[in-house]
Amino acid sequence: MNKIQMTTPLVEMDGDEMTRILWKMIKDELLTPFIDLKTEYYDLGLEHRNETNDQITIDSANATKKYGVAVKCATITPNAARMTEYDLKEMWKSPNGTIRAILDGTVFRAPIVVKGIEPCVKNWKKPITIARHAYGDVYKNTEMKIPGAGKVELVYTAEDGSQTKELVFDFKGPGVAQGMHNIDASIESFAKSCFNYALDTKQDLWFATKDTISKKYDHTFKDIFQEIFDAEYKEKFEAAGITYFYTLIDDAVARVMKSEGGYIWACKNYDGDVMSDMVSSAFGSLAMMTSVLVSPDGYYEYEAAHGTVQRHYYKHLKGEETSTNSVATIFAWSGALRKRGEMDGNQELMEFADKLENATIQTIEEGKMTKDLALITTMENPTVLNSGDFIKAIADTLRK
Ligand code: NAP
Ligand code: MG
Repeated sequence: MNKIQMTTPLVEMDGDEMTRILWKMIKDELLTPFIDLKTEYYDLGLEHRNETNDQITIDSANATKKYGVAVKCATITPNAARMTEYDLKEMWKSPNGTIRAILDGTVFRAPIVVKGIEPCVKNWKKPITIARHAYGDVYKNTEMKIPGAGKVELVYTAEDGSQTKELVFDFKGPGVAQGMHNIDASIESFAKSCFNYALDTKQDLWFATKDTISKKYDHTFKDIFQEIFDAEYKEKFEAAGITYFYTLIDDAVARVMKSEGGYIWACKNYDGDVMSDMVSSAFGSLAMMTSVLVSPDGYYEYEAAHGTVQRHYYKHLKGEETSTNSVATIFAWSGALRKRGEMDGNQELMEFADKLENATIQTIEEGKMTKDLALITTMENPTVLNSGDFIKAIADTLRK
């Protein structure tokens, strides 16, 4: 069989634990038999991050700027327990955080919808993609406990020393106060990433804040989105047959629950934190959720939304059988290959990405799945496969 050729490499970011095991199986069974796979390989496994003082993570993000598309395996974010387990020189930062800071991107999370794994919300027929702004607000706040009577004020001191003050509250007794901020440049990047991704995936874009109550803070988000849309995206959206829709956050929540899905829901940082957990759990499983980081400059990094599945890895190390779901990691690869194909005008590669996704979905719909899905499926008598056999079953479907 003639293998599909690639003209430009993908940035391949390998990772840790069980997902590192799945990573190799996916390459061996589903990719290299069909594609002459070209990647620039970066080992973000924790041991190698430690050896390189985390330089490897920075290099991999810079390579993504060079080539445009990356695919990433789940990685360990070290904590105290990992310091001892891996004998680390430092508690290295989250690779996702480092990569996101370099690419300045927005993360889009979308469920993979298959028959037999039904969302809890029965009218949701198509995926709902959540885009979460990843800078500022309550995540970079300054807080105070107010011990007793007194005034709390916001003070802005300009570079020339002049000051503007706003009274927060004139306390008569104890309480709490909080200051938070955001930056126009970050909101602009967020807006552009959302508009670009909507065009890319030909889906409507929804955005919501509480601008009726927050007349300056949230209103700035609303205004920046609208200004960028009118100036740069309105015609492109019309040509693509998609819409941009702004509403209040509480109205958005009500509409989302009654919708069929099939759109992108852009959220401020806190709303996105909360709503992405609601949407992903309602769609069934974190193991069926993909994630893509889209930068305002048009760089893409694809990954699974789940972690390294540590508990399964320890079983694997003991020689016990595992049944770990590889779907989100497979879709990270297919997403990256499709994008590579689009950027390079490589039709065959784009078609392969579709076929790989279809084969994965078909395999599950035929009743062959991993244990996590077997526990929640509406199908009767599903066949539960181990990690390797599930990937082999997809390879069989793909060959057919
Ligand atoms: P996790 O790896 O997502 O796993 C949590 C649990 O969810 C698993 O124990 C498993 O449940 C279930 N699960 C998740 N993915 C699954 C899959 N593909 N197939 C079957 N079951 C799956 O989260 P964690 O255990 O909290 O974190 C482990 C490590 O991952 C941590 O070191 C963390 O830093 C890292 N992490 C990385 C990323 C990333 O790179 N993007 C994201 C999150 C976490 P059962 O054990 O009940 O079967
Ligand atoms: Mg959360």
